[in-house]
Amino acid sequence: MNSATPRALLIKGALVLTMDSALGDIAHGDVLVEGKRIAQVGAALAAPPDAEIIDGRGMILIPGLIDSHTHMWQAPLKGLGVGLWGTPDYQKHVFPLREKFTPVDMHDACFAAGTEMLDNGITTVLDFCHNTMTPAHAEESIAAHQRTGQRVLFSYGMLGGFSTLAADHPWRLAQVRELAAGLGSDSLVQLGLALGSLEYSGLDLVRTEIELGRALGLPMTFHQNPPAQIRQLGEAGLLGGDLLPVHANLAADDELEMLAACGAGISFTVEGEFGGGRAMNIIGRAHRAGVTPSLGIDIPSRVALDLFAQMRLTFQVMRAEEALAERITGRWPLARHPGTPHAEPRHMLEYVTVNAARAVGRGHELGRIAPGFLADLVLLSTGPYSMSLGDPAAHVAFQSTPADVDTVIVDGVVRKREGRLTALDRSDAAHATRRVRERVLGVRSVA
Ligand SMILES: [Zn+2]
Repeated sequence: MNSATPRALLIKGALVLTMDSALGDIAHGDVLVEGKRIAQVGAALAAPPDAEIIDGRGMILIPGLIDSHTHMWQAPLKGLGVGLWGTPDYQKHVFPLREKFTPVDMHDACFAAGTEMLDNGITTVLDFCHNTMTPAHAEESIAAHQRTGQRVLFSYGMLGGFSTLAADHPWRLAQVRELAAGLGSDSLVQLGLALGSLEYSGLDLVRTEIELGRALGLPMTFHQNPPAQIRQLGEAGLLGGDLLPVHANLAADDELEMLAACGAGISFTVEGEFGGGRAMNIIGRAHRAGVTPSLGIDIPSRVALDLFAQMRLTFQVMRAEEALAERITGRWPLARHPGTPHAEPRHMLEYVTVNAARAVGRGHELGRIAPGFLADLVLLSTGPYSMSLGDPAAHVAFQSTPADVDTVIVDGVVRKREGRLTALDRSDAAHATRRVRERVLGVRSVA
């Protein structure tokens, strides 16, 4: 499916949210796509001969949504993580299931997740694959990603079985080298590195992973849960803009300064943070400290593959935190004053476009609708019940749902048109999910 030859596309008459500071919003905008990239953005653009014309009138055109942290192998386990109480519950009831996943299960799970995410307007995802139990687990995950046409930063997990972390380290490092050499630089599926967690792997193993990642030029990410780990990495000289911490809820102010100083972001996974009972104020603290936030769905066993919901919840969390801080300082009733409130609706769309593109190491060519950028685009219907008043980015963050995703374009190829996937079939994804459930859980799905 990735072999589909992109032809010129001209999207006409949409409300274009370019997310580019120079281009801004364009009320009745046209976007010309030639090959994999955006050629022109403006109004009343001329169509090249043989271009496909896409009528964007009455719709909002946004950059494809980018998820900076999801464990795609968990998609068939949808529902199992709901209602769990904190990390120990999760590590007892969900995480051990990874050992029951065979390479075939990884393939089916990644295919099902990628299909659903594309359908929901998520054109790029960082797949934090912490289930590389054998080399074939990684190979089958990548093979599935190559079938969907989604752009994937396949972040190879260094965290395998806890008792064999050190023993398994050499073959994992060797496979990372091999995969890095095999995936072409213009391939939709790129390689990243999901580091071992410092509390399990220790600094020496993690240092080796970071050094390999830097030698190969791979974007890297890691789960950051216990306190003081960012400082530990900083003091070891290992932090960098190519290293994306996830959660980081307990980061101290000096650690946020370290991240900001090296241009690093954080990935905030609001429903995952709720489920883990983690400190939610990190998102506002990071934003105010100049650390670039992006959003992730994290665990599909608990969270729907829906970035619109993550935008909405994140905004409410940020505003709630600011309101709480105002009350604690005795200010009542709430009133605006310089710097408060800090979170604005449009920030949410930035988190899942411009910022998330940086998080996956592609800020120079993803996350904006601008000439030269890769043509990953989503047209959103505004539905029969009228567009929001005010900022159209707020409409996307507060009113849109996956049901509004009309058209999805990745790498200049239309993957969804007028509400229907073009080359993928929803039922294939559903069958893949059922197969995993039968093999891993021994259950037959009701539906
Ligand atoms: Zn995670």
